[in-house]
Amino acid sequence: MITIGILNLQGAVSEHYDITKKAIENMGIEAEAISVRYADEVANCDGVIISGGESTVIGKIIKERGIDKVIKDNKIPVFGTCAGMVLLGKKTDFDQPLLGIMDISVKRNAFGRQVDSFESPISILGEDYLGVFIRAPSLDDYDKTKEDIKVLSELDDEIVAIQQGHNIAIAFHPELTDDTRIHEYFIKEVLNCAE
Ligand code: GLN
Repeated sequence: MITIGILNLQGAVSEHYDITKKAIENMGIEAEAISVRYADEVANCDGVIISGGESTVIGKIIKERGIDKVIKDNKIPVFGTCAGMVLLGKKTDFDQPLLGIMDISVKRNAFGRQVDSFESPISILGEDYLGVFIRAPSLDDYDKTKEDIKVLSELDDEIVAIQQGHNIAIAFHPELTDDTRIHEYFIKEVLNCAE
């Protein structure tokens, strides 16, 4: 039995919770999705999802509550979407608290402001998806010496999905579609890690 914690601090949390439950059902595995707010709850998770929202706010609370320490100490795999992608990186173009567990730097608002939000077909590991981009970030750079980093998707020459070890950062919002495949991909990573 594995537990996937949806970090419930700010942003599109309930959508992630619903789609994670659906992904677990589709996979037919022994797993649960729970909402987590504090470090001790996060410590009991096998994987954590950080939603989109405002990365400055989420990052500040992550630090204040010691959630970053628990994730790092227990090497808990994290899947971050949009603001979650910003937080996974070690650097961004703003001065803000980060979780910093992937060797990537992230450019916030890379596709423009809220009014420039858009949907676009994208491809990840050879499969077609609908990418929903809402004031989305993109990858600025990553440490090319790290062999465990894998680029998963690009759009208009911008990297919009990347994985390092069991951590996955994507710039768009699969939780705003009915498509569970990316969540299933993350849950498989968590299962591999828990073995
Ligand atoms: N622009 C937000 C940030 O960088 C992310 C937007 C989102 O999560 N939809 O924090």
